[in-house]
Amino acid sequence: NHLKKYFPITSGIFKKHIGDVKAVDDLNLYVNEGETLGLVGESGCGKTTASRCILRAYEPTAGEIFFRNKKQEYVDLAHLSDKDLRPMRPEMQMIFQDPFGSLNPRMNIFDIISEPMLVNGIRNRKEREERVVDLLKKVGLRPEYMVRYPHSFSGGQRQRIGIARALALQPRLVVADEPVSALDVSVQAQVLNLLMELMEDMGLTYLFVAHDLSVVRHICDRVTVMYVGKIVETAPTEELYYNPRHPYSEALMAAVPIADPRLQQDRKGLPGEVPSPANPPSGCYFHPRCSYCKDRCKAEVPELREISPNHWTACHRAEELSLEGLKK
Ligand code: SF4
Repeated sequence: NHLKKYFPITSGIFKKHIGDVKAVDDLNLYVNEGETLGLVGESGCGKTTASRCILRAYEPTAGEIFFRNKKQEYVDLAHLSDKDLRPMRPEMQMIFQDPFGSLNPRMNIFDIISEPMLVNGIRNRKEREERVVDLLKKVGLRPEYMVRYPHSFSGGQRQRIGIARALALQPRLVVADEPVSALDVSVQAQVLNLLMELMEDMGLTYLFVAHDLSVVRHICDRVTVMYVGKIVETAPTEELYYNPRHPYSEALMAAVPIADPRLQQDRKGLPGEVPSPANPPSGCYFHPRCSYCKDRCKAEVPELREISPNHWTACHRAEELSLEGLKK
């Protein structure tokens, strides 16, 4: 709710504050229990920063993060002390992007997966072993692998180990930060299918951060598109794919490769780059790259508004966007 994360910019030896990088700027979103919300955008749009703020891995600059605990009470994570946050931690876990960098090469698989249990007071080794065996089976790995070290596994297997670690404390919310983007395409589908099976099995809720829209389409119920720290569109997945109402979402859809080279030829790429959140353009942040830009777009920041049930967009010309695209 109105979540912000600003990183200060300082200058000189006295570190004079000269501005802010507004990595996340007034974000409002929700994730229903048992659903998968995709958070998408190009690199530098603030999706990873937002997801880390939601888990309080980064301290938010402002805003509230309501999490419904097991007693069905809404707790504002953003304003909890570290002491009060600690008992909530097991309920929210993260799967990281890099299956190579996220596993400590000096720990064996048992130690990696059972570390969160130890930190959370499960001291009985036998109990931890039983749980690790169960988790390894759940993620499709053999229990005897627990004595091995990360270097003896492939990328896909390491990501399965990372998933087992994230599930070690039976979380309710899992933030998956580009969990398959470092994997070979052939392995991506296996890991995505595993994530979906685990969701059913363990009653998980996912916040799924990704830039690859074909992956998002496969796994997400709803999608939120971010651009320079702000939400530009939120809609149920199929609605967003077939009827995007923001030119940025439309451009992201057009960037998804399709199998037919004749159709691929007609597709236009997105010109330019994501502007710096330290110095964003006036009006609509997307206007320098938008081929539908009018004078109003350069002057007025578009509000995020609901243009059809559950479909929100921040574009002055959203109503004009049809299935064929905006009329210029
Ligand atoms: Fe393009 Fe204007 Fe819509 Fe921004 S508000 S996305 S510039 S049409």
